[in-house]
Amino acid sequence: MSSPSQSAAELLTTPVQFLRGVGPQRAELLQRLGLHTSRDLLFDFPRDYQDLTDMRSIATLEEDKFLSVQGVIDEFELRNAGVGRSILGVLVRQGQHYLRAMWFNQSYMRERFVVGQEVLLSGKAMLRGGRWEMHHPRVQWIEPSDEPASQAPWLPIYGLTEGLSQGQLRSIIRGVLETCAGAVDDVLPPEFLVEQQLPPIQQALEQIHFPPDRPGMEAARRRFIFQELLVLQLALALKRQQQRHTPAAVLEASARIDARIRRLFAFEFTAGQNQAIAEMAADMARPVPMNRLLQGDVGSGKTVVALYAMLLAVAHGYQAALMAPTEVLARQHARTLGKVLAASQVRSTLLTGGLTARERQAAFAAVASGEAQVVIGTQAILADELKFARLGLVVIDEQHKFGVRQRASLKQAAASPHYLVMTATPIPRTLTMTLFGDLDVSTIRDNPPGRQPVHTYWAKPDQRAKWWEFFRRKLREGQQGYVIAPLVDESEQIAAASLKQVYESLANGELEAFRLAMIHGQMSAAEKTSVMDAFHAGTIQVLVATSVVEVGVDVPNATLMAIEDGQRFGLAQLHQLRGRITRGIHPGFCCVFAEAGNDEAAQRLTAFVESNDGFKLSETDAQLRGPGDLLGTRQHGLPPLRIADIFRDAAVLEEARRAAQAMIAADPDLRGAQFAKLRRMVFVRYGAALDLGDVG
Ligand code: ADP
Ligand code: MG
Repeated sequence: MSSPSQSAAELLTTPVQFLRGVGPQRAELLQRLGLHTSRDLLFDFPRDYQDLTDMRSIATLEEDKFLSVQGVIDEFELRNAGVGRSILGVLVRQGQHYLRAMWFNQSYMRERFVVGQEVLLSGKAMLRGGRWEMHHPRVQWIEPSDEPASQAPWLPIYGLTEGLSQGQLRSIIRGVLETCAGAVDDVLPPEFLVEQQLPPIQQALEQIHFPPDRPGMEAARRRFIFQELLVLQLALALKRQQQRHTPAAVLEASARIDARIRRLFAFEFTAGQNQAIAEMAADMARPVPMNRLLQGDVGSGKTVVALYAMLLAVAHGYQAALMAPTEVLARQHARTLGKVLAASQVRSTLLTGGLTARERQAAFAAVASGEAQVVIGTQAILADELKFARLGLVVIDEQHKFGVRQRASLKQAAASPHYLVMTATPIPRTLTMTLFGDLDVSTIRDNPPGRQPVHTYWAKPDQRAKWWEFFRRKLREGQQGYVIAPLVDESEQIAAASLKQVYESLANGELEAFRLAMIHGQMSAAEKTSVMDAFHAGTIQVLVATSVVEVGVDVPNATLMAIEDGQRFGLAQLHQLRGRITRGIHPGFCCVFAEAGNDEAAQRLTAFVESNDGFKLSETDAQLRGPGDLLGTRQHGLPPLRIADIFRDAAVLEEARRAAQAMIAADPDLRGAQFAKLRRMVFVRYGAALDLGDVG
């Protein structure tokens, strides 16, 4: 397919069906894997390798060494070894010699073997009763058309799809490497490669697919991991650089202003709140926009800190906006603010999707004229037509509910306000560094005094009756409660239906004698508001809810919580839910009903019952979920990382971050000719997500 006249760009964008060894059928399979062009194939890195450095014949096997053997399947047998136990023995022949590969309790492996099939096994060999065995070896199924394994001491293992074999994909990729790898341009300048001890692109591509040895494989992988993280860190550093150059209002917390704000609150701030306020006030006193993440466990008093900042902006004649992830929460913030401001002149406006056209128009006008000094709302605040007269501060509650994109678009809507985001899901340090490289972090570690403990139980089905009896007793004593049913991976309609079932069975059963109401995402804003108001007022005793109440809802008299299908909630979410019942003068009681089928759910629920510490739970959560995954970039609105894993590759991340900072310090906008390709890559990948502007 390659001819000297083809340009590099043409070579790399060649559709897969025109590649050697790929016809229309295989092209379709490749496309199923997201592989459309020769470039896609070059960058489809192996997810693992089989180490064939020590290929042996069975006659020359040695004990206790990691070896590989190729042979033909002679016979196999699956034996039952008691309840739930099995042994699969596969006899592999090589001339006169035999080796038995064995798998314990993996009966499904049986489907993968066929007598007469050629296989390649890697593992430790053992002599048992004069015969060779390998337990749980790595297996490669060899097709007659496959190239001989001896060609590659490390065999790449790719993600596959049905109908495509490792051998086939391997030889397709080998072909593309030969014809197209030379056309790939290195985005990293040669001096930089030397400085960072990274292999050049052609060598790295060659060796990540077909490593000559372990060091070669590791060097190649490190290059791509480093590059990916460097690009991310450069994007964040550029963003930060841009922000430093946009002026912001100087909003100093003078002693007089500070005293005036504190007087509005009925309590003393905690040490943690004071520390966060000091850090924030120092930022806001500078003529560059504050960019701060405020994290603290559920109920640690973050909202109060945010209110302080908002009042600080107002004291200087600026407007402040607070954006919450749900309407329920926005209304609650408005209610809290109303109480704090009862004795003051400050005027606030609520802006949510649930307003009538006329209300909305009035709110917009008040914001535009500057009459509304504080604006509280949902994403409705992001509306293009909304113009602030003098926006000085933006606060975003529950950052993890919003993506980076929304953050960016809000920033555009305003000139250059100071900027505070809050989260109750504590974020591990590696992640704040990666995702919020452009944010400073304040952490509140203490709680307001008098916080009530929550007793948490994981109840067995036969304890239900006892729990509801207890629940009823507490209701009769005047306390209130929540019953939570999950909303996971289901449409809102289905969730509403299953919620309705829970509601009806309680209303006609265990809680028949009490005043119940439902709240869920399918209800109109007005309905939700009236239910929440009634719950606040105590006219409703029990709220049957989806995780709508997960974030921030604050009804001090509610001390009881039952969670149905607890195995379907994440750990952070469970902890958020429980945070609803720590606000009053009585201790909370939380009971989870759950069928924990798999180990992970059981570990999650056990951790939840055993700890009340949000920071500890978020670490456990990250461990249980495995690296990357849900805490990863995708959830935060950034493109996913392809090869790097910010937990596993924390050390490389640190190096990439240092390199990025040094580059930006020397060349703030990365305009140097040697970085032109790298800069382009940064903008292509993160320009939109981080609102970096044009490449030019
Ligand atoms: P978060 O937003 O971190 O979940 P909030 O700011 O909503 O927490 O505070 C939780 C509750 O604690 C609210 O009812 C608030 O009024 C109260 N609170 C906050 N700070 C203090 C304090 N320093 N002393 C007493 N109560 C406080
Ligand atoms: Mg809150």
